[in-house]
Amino acid sequence: MRGRPSTVWIATAAALLALLLAALARVPGTGAAARSGDGLAWLHLAAYGVGAMGVIFLGVGYRRCAGAVTSIATRLSSPEPAGTERDGPRAPGALTEAVDARLARNEAVIQELRGQLRDLQVRSQLAEREKRHTEAILYSLRDAVLVVDGADKLLMANEPAAGLFGFDAGDSRRQPLAEIVGQTQAEFVELLRQSRRTRTEATKREIVIAREDRPHTYEVIVSCVQEDGKALGVVAVLHDVTKEKEVAQMKNDFVSHVSHELKTPLASITAYSEMLADGEANDEETRKEFYAVIQSQAQRLNRLIEDILNISRIESGLIKVRKEQASLTILIQEQLQMIRNYAEEKQITVTAGPPIVYDQVYVDKDMLSQVIINLLSNAVKYTPAGGRVSVGTEVDEAARLARVTVTDTGAGIPAEEIGHLFEKFYRVSANNKLAKGTGLGLNLVKQIVEKVHNGRVFVTSEVGVGSTFGFELPLATAAEVVAV
Ligand code: ADP
Repeated sequence: MRGRPSTVWIATAAALLALLLAALARVPGTGAAARSGDGLAWLHLAAYGVGAMGVIFLGVGYRRCAGAVTSIATRLSSPEPAGTERDGPRAPGALTEAVDARLARNEAVIQELRGQLRDLQVRSQLAEREKRHTEAILYSLRDAVLVVDGADKLLMANEPAAGLFGFDAGDSRRQPLAEIVGQTQAEFVELLRQSRRTRTEATKREIVIAREDRPHTYEVIVSCVQEDGKALGVVAVLHDVTKEKEVAQMKNDFVSHVSHELKTPLASITAYSEMLADGEANDEETRKEFYAVIQSQAQRLNRLIEDILNISRIESGLIKVRKEQASLTILIQEQLQMIRNYAEEKQITVTAGPPIVYDQVYVDKDMLSQVIINLLSNAVKYTPAGGRVSVGTEVDEAARLARVTVTDTGAGIPAEEIGHLFEKFYRVSANNKLAKGTGLGLNLVKQIVEKVHNGRVFVTSEVGVGSTFGFELPLATAAEVVAV
């Protein structure tokens, strides 16, 4: 109570002041009582008395309230050890110290919590950035990637995966995988389920998925993601291996075709040379006949090996290409000379159209000569005696292209086989009896025109009417002409 005016004293002073004012009111000629009479003065007195009592009550109330507030504040700010409160109220200095100490402790706790919050915010930002980073990597992959949760519901899928199974990557999150990919992919869905059930870290399996063009083979790697022995989900990566499989298959086919093609002439050569050695050819005429067979089979073998080597050199990019400026007309004329004898033997007329004005191309002359002779010899080979073969040349100035066509009045090719003509070893069975061949000539033509010279091959044909085989090449540019 020391240092603070007692509210009891203030109340008492107020009551005395009220009585004094009441007494003054009773003195005649002074104050309000002089004007209003005694009744009013006593009313004043009563009012002041009541006011004074009110002040006393307020004073006492204030004291009690102040005590309660101080007690609550003390409890709130500094809960003392048990029993302290019972020992009586603290001195104000000690209370302030306790409050300060408590505040300091609270401040320290707040600072620590703020630090933890900042730390968590930084970690959350890092995790968010890492998530975005990972997602960016997954979305940039060309392989299809799918992630499902422990209940086989989609967590995320990149665009190739959505395109492969035909769903919307954004709308399909949290949807059951089986519903998203459809019933046709039951094998794939089962593969993921199995991986989750058996908690396998990485399983590789090949599955075939039908696509617009053709069935594609996918190498699927599925891996179960687990934590504390619990399967959180499964990640699946699908890599399209269709092309690799086709190439591997083509290589196998190529090797078996080559060995088969080599075997046939070799078998003839072996058989005829053995007959000669055994003296089975008694007369000169028979011996000559045997020699001719051996010679032609050896030539066939030679052609076959040459074609195979050329094709594989071009395909592997190992062939040396020597391009130079050349006149298409001259190259065609040279090859026409080469074929004339053979055509005359078969009574086939070979003609060339009018020469073009600008016929300069930038080519490997040997290779282009091979293209022209292959097309000319096929035209003569597959045209019955009495037929016609004509060579046409034209220039498309706008497209800067030279176009060469070889047209015959021969056997023609069934429409369904036209698409296969340029494949290795492909021969039209209906025309096999017309001439011998390896089925490699047109493939070589295509490789030389398209791969080496950036041109294009084409063919149109009608059975019993004839065929037109041709190619387009870019005209030599000014720089290529000057360079010579
Ligand atoms: P081949 O050595 O068998 O002639 P090619 O690759 O040159 O091999 O030709 C492939 C097949 O295309 C031939 O076997 C033949 O059936 C067919 N062919 C090619 N040119 C013609 C043509 N002008 N007329 C008809 N058929 C053709």
